[in-house]
Amino acid sequence: MSASCQSCLMPFSKDPGVRESEKYCSYCFKNGELCYKGDDLKEYQNICYTNMVAKGMNKFQARVFTFLIRFAPRWKKANRRKD
Ligand SMILES: [Zn+2]
Repeated sequence: MSASCQSCLMPFSKDPGVRESEKYCSYCFKNGELCYKGDDLKEYQNICYTNMVAKGMNKFQARVFTFLIRFAPRWKKANRRKD
């Protein structure tokens, strides 16, 4: 059904790693658990942005993807609670 990570929205087709979970990409879910366990969207976005740039993505693209993370299934609830 969902073809992208429910935490960071990266399409699984772009995932260079080996996925352990059907819901999350190989970056978000490792060794049987989510890498970022908090529920702070801003903090999570910062981590993702840093990782994307470190992986060689250009900064504009990284900012766009970082913005879109708020629409991922994992974060929708957290958004609603804060508003
Ligand atoms: Zn992910």
